Amino acid sequence: MTMSDMPTNTDVLVLGCGAAGLSAAIEAADLGLKVLALESEDELAGSTRLSAGHCSFYGTGIVEGSREEFAADLRDSHHGDDDPKLVELYLDHVPGAYRRLVDDLGFHYDKSLQLAHMRRAWMHELSGNVRGGAEIGRLLEVAARQRGVDIRVAARARRLIRDDAGRVVGADVETKDGNVTILAAKGVVLATGGFTRNLALMTNFGGPNGARMLPIGGSGCRGDGLIMALALGAATSFISAGVAPTGPAEPKTQKGSLVAYCGAVLLNSDGERFANEAGMYSDVSVAALKQEDETIFQIYDETVREAYKNSMWGRVLTGFPEFKSDTLEELFDQIAAERRFDAQAAVATLGRYNESVRRGHDPEFGRDHMVGTAGKPTEITTGPFYGIITVPGTTQNNGGLKVDDGLRVIDVFGKPIDGLYAAGEIVGGFHGNGYLSGTHVGMALVFGQLAGKAAAGLAKA
Ligand SMILES: Cc1cc2nc3c(=O)[nH]c(=O)nc-3n(C[C@H](O)[C@H](O)[C@H](O)COP(=O)(O)OP(=O)(O)OC[C@H]3O[C@@H](n4cnc5c(N)ncnc54)[C@H](O)[C@@H]3O)c2cc1C
Repeated sequence: MTMSDMPTNTDVLVLGCGAAGLSAAIEAADLGLKVLALESEDELAGSTRLSAGHCSFYGTGIVEGSREEFAADLRDSHHGDDDPKLVELYLDHVPGAYRRLVDDLGFHYDKSLQLAHMRRAWMHELSGNVRGGAEIGRLLEVAARQRGVDIRVAARARRLIRDDAGRVVGADVETKDGNVTILAAKGVVLATGGFTRNLALMTNFGGPNGARMLPIGGSGCRGDGLIMALALGAATSFISAGVAPTGPAEPKTQKGSLVAYCGAVLLNSDGERFANEAGMYSDVSVAALKQEDETIFQIYDETVREAYKNSMWGRVLTGFPEFKSDTLEELFDQIAAERRFDAQAAVATLGRYNESVRRGHDPEFGRDHMVGTAGKPTEITTGPFYGIITVPGTTQNNGGLKVDDGLRVIDVFGKPIDGLYAAGEIVGGFHGNGYLSGTHVGMALVFGQLAGKAAAGLAKA
């Protein structure tokens, strides 16, 4: 791309090309508008691409269950503390957004999963042997290009531009060939994702231990959009309360690892369990951060490894180095040679764990299911045995910019900032003080669609 290639005028300018930005671009283009979508990195789809792409929806035909049941699970996972109008917005639009994905954009689902805080299997998984989030990025890119969206990579928005009346009319953008000012006649959609890779923001807004979590989201998670909007006086919502560690992650590869969801046991450095492995992975990470040393040792056998390999998590969250041995004793000695780890205590812990699996009840941590409220854990007895050293990692932010139910960014005085919309992880309030698995990509898709329509001029999407 050269500077002369880059348009300087468009109708709708979308900043960030993940699930939210591409969804917004598609909707605005379908309404007949000229859309320019900018991506700061060389590759599209940020954290969306790295994710498992699981989306929690209701009213899809894949899972039975009412809006009321789904709403109750959402509120429960938010610990009853969120922005109710955004929760209602999601509830209102999930069934329609789902039909749009499946009927018009090539999404393909045939199963869903039941995790913590779920009374039904709300979490939809793309069918086929695909990497969920990468497939979502691919499908959305194809749909956007088919509709004539002009997509540019290596184009990083740095500042929003306002006219004399205070309306946002464009952005200053940094490219490899220099800086360019792009004007947008209809509106600008901020969809730049989260801020987990911005140490200053994480230190200030990351909640307790925010800066101790290993960021494993997309390389563009610098909070650019948040900073650009704050510079215009934008308000935030649940900005620090909503930030949490998510799942265990392997430091060398910076890859998430959820083998526990297929049966691994989680131990601390004392060789003791410290949480219910079937619980929400963020709760597991919070529990790990409370240990003397936050390292999480995931221990599993061949049966668990095989099950993980065949899961969406195993297809996406993979590639980390494993310890391997024919006996648990040798495995623990190997680990102890590398890290402070009580190998003897670990042998005793595994003995107790296997006993509780045989009995069908875990008196220590209540792991009576494999994951959430589904399935049964298996004994760790089939060699070879494996171990991974992980730490609490963070995949996303839950808090961000305050928006109204038209996805307009709200300023600190409670007024919408004219011409400025936001969608996806950059938005705060929907998740409030917690989150239901599968609602980050879910929210990015649903709110992305709505923001695209709103920016295109539909008063309320
Ligand atoms: C390993 C992992 C697994 C996950 N699994 C799930 C899951 O299964 N289900 C779920 O619901 N959530 C999951 N999440 C979280 C989820 O992926 C994200 O919250 C969601 O994809 C965010 O979508 P988005 O479009 O808002 O942001 P992103 O997908 O991150 O897209 C934002 C884009 O904006 C770009 N950008 C940033 N700054 C600028 C700028 N200044 N100018 C232009 N472009 C910019 C970024 O590079 C990026 O491409 C996971 C996350 C990770 C990391």
